[in-house]
Amino acid sequence: MNATDAAAFLTLVNARRGHFLLESGHHSQLWLDLDALFAEPNRIAPFVAKLAKAIQPHAVSSVCGPLLGGAFLAQLVALALGVEFCFTERVMPRESGGLYRARYLLPAAFTARVRNSRIAIVDDVMSAGSALRGTFAELRAHGAQPVVAGALLVLGSAGASHFVDQGVAVEAVAREKYDLWLPSGCPLCSSGVPLEHMAGTAQGDTEAADAKSLPPASS
Ligand SMILES: [Zn+2]
Repeated sequence: MNATDAAAFLTLVNARRGHFLLESGHHSQLWLDLDALFAEPNRIAPFVAKLAKAIQPHAVSSVCGPLLGGAFLAQLVALALGVEFCFTERVMPRESGGLYRARYLLPAAFTARVRNSRIAIVDDVMSAGSALRGTFAELRAHGAQPVVAGALLVLGSAGASHFVDQGVAVEAVAREKYDLWLPSGCPLCSSGVPLEHMAGTAQGDTEAADAKSLPPASS
């Protein structure tokens, strides 16, 4: 992990800096186009190789990622490590309210395979890490042992700290500072920077889920 990796990754996802209104209602100063990430597999390959190398010492027998981006990445990392692959699917319960309410379910085909096994959970980008938190809880519920959480890019410290507190190692190819604000506390609004409305564009599904789950003024 170094500054060059972060810069290269941010170029890969067409990162823009400015003042953005996210679907969640939060304002941010960084925008990533995660949908573009897997469009050219050869461009993402060096990052996948670095993440696989970082995960290797954890001696996992499977790699699991939340659909969509996390699962694409999990399959590539599993192939690089020569281990099994599985994924979780996001389900939103009907009742709203509460943090991290989205659930990530493991398809029945994988439940017997993951029991009692050491697993890596991965996502393309982790900020608050709601998709990886949900995947972690689901795997534990099926008797699996998630021992490492990996991401190509870790934004801020909210997600990473959560996993470290749980005794789960965090591996990242790149790390970047990240701030989200409620409109009332946004310093960019205070200084009159024009706001771009980004709802409905491609911040990426898991990242949007993270943004919805973040408490105010988290970084
Ligand atoms: Zn603002």
